Amino acid sequence: MRQRRPLEAVVALALSACTMTKLQQTAPGPPMNVHETPSVLFAFDNSYARLPDRFFARLNPSSVRAPRLVRLNGALALHLGLDPEALSAPGGVEILAGNRLPGGAEPLAMAYAGHQFGNWVPRLGDGRAILLGEVIGKDGVRRDIQLKGAGLTPFSRMGDGRAALGPVLREYIVSEAMAALGIPTTRALAAVTTGEEVAREQLLPGAVLTRVAQSHVRVGTFQFFAARGDEEALRLLADHVIERHYPEVAKSDQPYLALLDAVVDTQAKLIARWQLAGFIHGVMNTDNMLIAGETIDYGPCAFMDFYDPKTVYSSIDRMGRYAYGNQPRIAQWNLAVLAQSLLPLLGDGKDAAVARAQDAIDSFPGLYNAAYGEGMRAKLGLAQERSGDTELAEDLFTRMADNRADFTLTFRRLSDLPAKDPETDTEIRKLFEDPAAFDDWALRWRKRLTRENIGDEKRQAAMRAVNPAFIPRNHLVEEALKAATAEEDFAPFDTLMTVLASPFEDRPEFSRYAKPPRPEQVVQATFCGT
Ligand code: AMP
Ligand code: MG
Repeated sequence: MRQRRPLEAVVALALSACTMTKLQQTAPGPPMNVHETPSVLFAFDNSYARLPDRFFARLNPSSVRAPRLVRLNGALALHLGLDPEALSAPGGVEILAGNRLPGGAEPLAMAYAGHQFGNWVPRLGDGRAILLGEVIGKDGVRRDIQLKGAGLTPFSRMGDGRAALGPVLREYIVSEAMAALGIPTTRALAAVTTGEEVAREQLLPGAVLTRVAQSHVRVGTFQFFAARGDEEALRLLADHVIERHYPEVAKSDQPYLALLDAVVDTQAKLIARWQLAGFIHGVMNTDNMLIAGETIDYGPCAFMDFYDPKTVYSSIDRMGRYAYGNQPRIAQWNLAVLAQSLLPLLGDGKDAAVARAQDAIDSFPGLYNAAYGEGMRAKLGLAQERSGDTELAEDLFTRMADNRADFTLTFRRLSDLPAKDPETDTEIRKLFEDPAAFDDWALRWRKRLTRENIGDEKRQAAMRAVNPAFIPRNHLVEEALKAATAEEDFAPFDTLMTVLASPFEDRPEFSRYAKPPRPEQVVQATFCGT
C-alpha cells in the first residue's frame, strides 16, 4: 500500500488555491420559486432519501433566471423510461434547470468526506449538486437523477453552488463518449443554460447538468461516517449499497467483507478500462470514486494524445499524483481508505479485521493485471493468452513513448494491418518519429500472430471493435466549448457528440476528428471543472 508523502500536502495547497480563485461567491440568485408539477414525468422511488437525516441535507434547487435547453439526451431518457418530448418542453426544461420540482422528487444534498490529493477533508458533500430522486430504468437498474450546478447547499463551503457552461459541456461530451466506448460512467441526461453568469476568473455563462448515476455513494461517503465513529450509519450505508449494487454479496456469511472484495474487483476492472483507452481522470480523490464502479467527476480529465505514462493534464496536479501511469496505484490507495472505513463492520477483533481488509486490498494488483492483460491482448488482436504477450505489449509502449506515437491512432491503424504483409504499414509507420521503431516491433507481432488460428478479416473486425477511431480529443473538445461559450454556437458541440456516439465505426466524412492534434492544436493543460 502506498504511504502518504509530505509532497502531497504541497499539492493539496495547490488545490485549495485553485478552489479559492475559482469559487468566488456571486450575488444570490432570484428567490426560490419551486413548484410541484402535477404530471408524472419521473416515476421516482427514492431509496437514499429513506436513510436517516444525517446522510444528507434536504433542500430544493435554487431557481435560475432564464433556463434554455442546450441538449437533451433522448436515447438515455427513453432508456430511463422518461419522455424526451416532455423533458424538452418548457415545463421539462424548468425541471432540468431546478426552477420546478417534478412530482415525487425528494431533493437533497448528500454528505461525504474525502481525501483530496491525499489530504483529509472531513466534510465535503454536494456543494452544488442536488439529487432529485431515483428512477428505475428499462433495464431494471435504479439510477440517481441529479442536478449539478443547482445552487447553494449546506456543503457549499467557499463555492457559489453553480457550474459554468464550459465544464458542463465538457462533462457532457466526455461522459457520453466514455459510455459509447463501453466504459462504466455516470451519464449526461441534459444540459441547460441558466441565463445567469457565474464568477470564476472571469464571468462565464452558467449552466446546469442533469447527471445520471447508478448511485452517488462514494468512498468518501463511507469515510464521512467512519471518521465520526458512526458505526450504525456505516452499516446502513453498506446495506444500502449491497442491496443496490452488489445484491449477490448479501448471501455471503461475511457480507461486508464480500462488499469490499466486490468493490475492489469492480474498480480494478474500471481502471483497466481507463488505461486501455488512454483516459486520464485527473482528480482521483476518494470523494470522486463511486462504490458502484462508474467513472465520475469529469473535471480536468483528458485522453492522451501521444503515449507517455507520465502524462498529466490537470493544471492543479503539479506533482503528477494522478498521472496516467499512477492511476492503478491511486485506485488501490483509495480502496485502502475504503477498507479502513469499513473496518468497524468487519468484526471479531481488530487484528483479524485488518488482516482481512489487507487481503482484499492486496488482491487489487492481480485483478487489475488480469483485466488489463485481457484487454491489451484484445487490442493487439490476440485471442489466446501466451507467455510473452505482456512483454510484447510493453515493447510496443516503450517504442510509442520514445517516438511520441498517438495512443488511439496507433491501435486503430494496427487493427487494419494484415498478418503477413508489411507493405501495408505505411500509415501506422508515420505515427512514429522513427518509423523503423515500429518495423522491429511489427516483426515480433506478426510472428506472434502466426500462433493465432483466426483469419485477417475476423481479427481486424475484433480489433476495430476494441480500438476506437474516435475519442474526445482535447483540441476538439476545446474547439466545441469555445464556440459554445464565446459565440453561443453549439454546432461544433453537436457534431462532436454525433461523432463520439459511434467511436468504433470508420466514418471518412469525419476523418478530421480521428486525427491527432497538429503541434499548434495541442492542449497542454486542463483546469478544474468548478
Ligand atoms: P470536485 O472538485 O467537483 O470533486 O468537488 C469537490 C468539492 O467541492 C465537493 O464537495 C463539491 O461539491 C465542492 N464544489 C465544487 N465546486 C463547487 C461550487 N461551485 N460551489 C460549491 N461547491 C463546490
Ligand atoms: Mg467530486
